[in-house]
Amino acid sequence: MEKNRLFLLLLLVGLFFTTSVINSEGTARPDYQQTGNELGEVLVLEYHLIGYPEGDWRRTPENFRKDLEALYQGGYYPINLRDLVAKDFAVPKGKTPVVLTFDDSSEGQFRIIPDGKGWRLDPECAVGIMLEFSRKHPDFPARGTFFVLPAIKKGLRLFGQEEYIETKLKFLRDNGFEIGNHSYWHQNLGKVGAEEVQRQLALAKREIEKYLPGYKMTSLSLPFGVWPKPRELAVSGQYDGISYKHDAIVLVGSGPAPSPFAKAFNPLAIERIQAGDTPWGLAAHLKRYEKKPHLRFFSDGQRNVITFPAGRENELAPNAGFKLRPVKTP
Ligand SMILES: [Zn+2]
Repeated sequence: MEKNRLFLLLLLVGLFFTTSVINSEGTARPDYQQTGNELGEVLVLEYHLIGYPEGDWRRTPENFRKDLEALYQGGYYPINLRDLVAKDFAVPKGKTPVVLTFDDSSEGQFRIIPDGKGWRLDPECAVGIMLEFSRKHPDFPARGTFFVLPAIKKGLRLFGQEEYIETKLKFLRDNGFEIGNHSYWHQNLGKVGAEEVQRQLALAKREIEKYLPGYKMTSLSLPFGVWPKPRELAVSGQYDGISYKHDAIVLVGSGPAPSPFAKAFNPLAIERIQAGDTPWGLAAHLKRYEKKPHLRFFSDGQRNVITFPAGRENELAPNAGFKLRPVKTP
C-alpha cells in the first residue's frame, strides 16, 4: 500500500517535471505541449538568397539544412502563410506551426539542372533541400511561401533560368508551396504614387496568372518592408482592369507573430524572423522557446477546436466556426 502511494507520488512528480520546464531563474514554467496552447506565438521565417557565402541576406545550403533540422528536432511543422492567416491548417498534436517565406525569387531558391531531354531539381537549392528533407522525414512537410518578382531583369526574375519559369511556377503550385506577390520589380512602394503602387501589384498578379491561370495570389511581402501611401493600397486596388486583394501582408522585421487566433494578430502586418545565425535569428528564438515554452503555440491536433490556457479568453479574436477549449495550467 505504502509502496503504491510512493509510486503514485513519484509518478506525479515525474509528470510535473516532464510537462514543466525549469527556466534559468529556477522557477517552473507551464509547458502546454501535452494540452495544446493555441494562443502561443508562431514564427514566420524570412529567407532571401540561398548560396555562398553566408551573409546578411544569404543562407548557405548547409545552414538552411541545419535550420530545417533544428525545426524538425524542436517539434515545428511547416505550413504556408495563406493557411496560417486563413486559420486553416492541420498541425499534429503537440507540434508548432512554422512558416518559411522566401523573398525575391532568386535562382538559389529554385534551380533546375537540365538532364538529357528532361530536368532534375538541384539538390542544393531551397526547394530541393526542403523536398529531400521531407522525404527523409515524412512528418515534416515541404511547405513555404515564395514572394516572387516577375519583371525584374532577366536572369533575376522568377528564379532566373528563363526557359524554366513556367515549369518552376507549376512545380511550386503542384507540390504544395505558395506563390506570393512581391511587386512587379521590387518597387519601393513608399516612393511612388497611388497609381504606380496599384500598377506594381496588379501587373505582378497578371504576370503570375499568365503562367498559372486562375491562381489566387493572396499574400504580399512589401519590398523593403515599406508601406505605400495610403496603406490600404497594399491590401487591395486595381489597375487596367486587374484587381488584387491580399489576405496576408508580411513585413521585413523582426519578431514572432501572435497566434492567428489572438486579437493581437494582424494578418495585414505580420512580423518575420530574419534567417541567420544572429542574436535575433532562428536559433535564438528556438532557444527562447526552450526556456519559455509557455509562450509557444502548441497544436491540440484538432482542426476546429482552439485550445488555450484558461483565463485568457479575453485575448481571443472572434474565431467563427471554432469550438473553444480552455485548459488549466499544466
Ligand atoms: Zn525583396
